[in-house]
Amino acid sequence: MRVAIIGGGIGGLSAALHLLKAGFDVEVYEQAPRITEIGAGIQISPNASRLLIRLGLKPAMDAAGVFPQAVHQRRWDDGRTLQRAPVGEPVEKAFGAPYYHFHRADLANLLAAALPAERVHVEHRLVDLVQERDRVTARFENGSSVEADVVVGADGIHSRARHLLFGPEKARFTGCVAWRGLVPAERVAALGIEVASHNWMGPDGHVVHYWVSAGRFMNVVCVTEHGDWTSESWTEKGKLADAMARYERWHPTVRGLIAAFPETYIWALHDRLPLPQWSEGRVTLLGDACHPMLPFMAQGAAQAIEDGAALASLLKAMPDDVPAALRRYEEIRKPRATRLQQASSANRTRFHLPDGPEQQARDQAMATSGDRSIANIGWLYLHDASDVG
Ligand SMILES: Cc1cc2nc3c(=O)[nH]c(=O)nc-3n(C[C@H](O)[C@H](O)[C@H](O)COP(=O)(O)OP(=O)(O)OC[C@H]3O[C@@H](n4cnc5c(N)ncnc54)[C@H](O)[C@@H]3O)c2cc1C
Repeated sequence: MRVAIIGGGIGGLSAALHLLKAGFDVEVYEQAPRITEIGAGIQISPNASRLLIRLGLKPAMDAAGVFPQAVHQRRWDDGRTLQRAPVGEPVEKAFGAPYYHFHRADLANLLAAALPAERVHVEHRLVDLVQERDRVTARFENGSSVEADVVVGADGIHSRARHLLFGPEKARFTGCVAWRGLVPAERVAALGIEVASHNWMGPDGHVVHYWVSAGRFMNVVCVTEHGDWTSESWTEKGKLADAMARYERWHPTVRGLIAAFPETYIWALHDRLPLPQWSEGRVTLLGDACHPMLPFMAQGAAQAIEDGAALASLLKAMPDDVPAALRRYEEIRKPRATRLQQASSANRTRFHLPDGPEQQARDQAMATSGDRSIANIGWLYLHDASDVG
């Protein structure tokens, strides 16, 4: 069976690896001139790392990743701990796979390196899809076209494949804007920051940071409400002074991190409401193309990786009826992806509460039955997406 994957992001690359392993003839078509990711971090939780490890990627992941020892959630001004849950060994033991922090480029490179180079076609921007009963033709901007038995749109939040299947619909600006910075370790050595996933919560904003690249850089993302910036570019530079001013009254560690940014990038966070449908005939969607979410559960890429594993299992189980396999894929994956879209939006409210009774109730709940404790996070981390029953 020939499978054409549109998009060589984390979702498309990992799906290609799962489908190859399942015995399919897979090709990836990426619009950019090379496979790359921007200079930022990404957290990969056990529900996704387990699937990548099964692809034989553990040595490369261990070499590139950082192993956080805890998740530490704190108050924005006095730094009081709201929740500190173990990660590291206890999480690996409980869920059978480690929690990793990566530089995005390292993760994209290790996925791409595991694919035969001749199966990845760069400078192929999908422009059109034509479906017939027994095949699909994908046409690209460079004039070429390809026939496949299945086409998977893994082409991100502004997916052309989604547009071709279901018509135009703009992604939704959520009102949240983020400044991000990648800080060389030596610039923040004096702050003595633990190897953990840190999240500072305050009125109308939160700040997440963690080490990447074997501890050579600290990845920092400062999220704020009421942004009037609507550009979604990962490469748009922001003004350091604006970020500093926004977090002026926050804890010295937060201000120390922002002050150490060599430069800052600003971007607007978009999402979509759950789509009514992901597939039509022999074409389906995967990752941000069908379930973009706010990054406040750190699950967008993890869910894309899960999609690829589930899709490979289902196509393998039902090779004679591709449309039925794709419908089943959607039936199985959609409720979980929707739950995570909703949980991510709920965290926006939860992380950004103004000081007052609701914030006090949140802090109390975090202290007593933290959502990141091993007992409470099992629903997310134990899930095995390749097991499609
Ligand atoms: C600030 C922030 C922090 C995040 N942190 C985390 C985290 O810690 N953990 C986590 O799991 N997720 C996280 N996410 C979410 C995660 O980044 C995304 O969900 C994930 O990258 C989506 O992968 P994807 O492959 O579906 O799409 P993308 O990464 O968008 O890849 C799509 C690819 O398709 C290509 N493409 C687009 N159009 C076409 C076309 N017409 N033809 C051919 N190719 C095309 C693009 O060039 C791109 O390479 C975060 C997101 C943000 C914004």
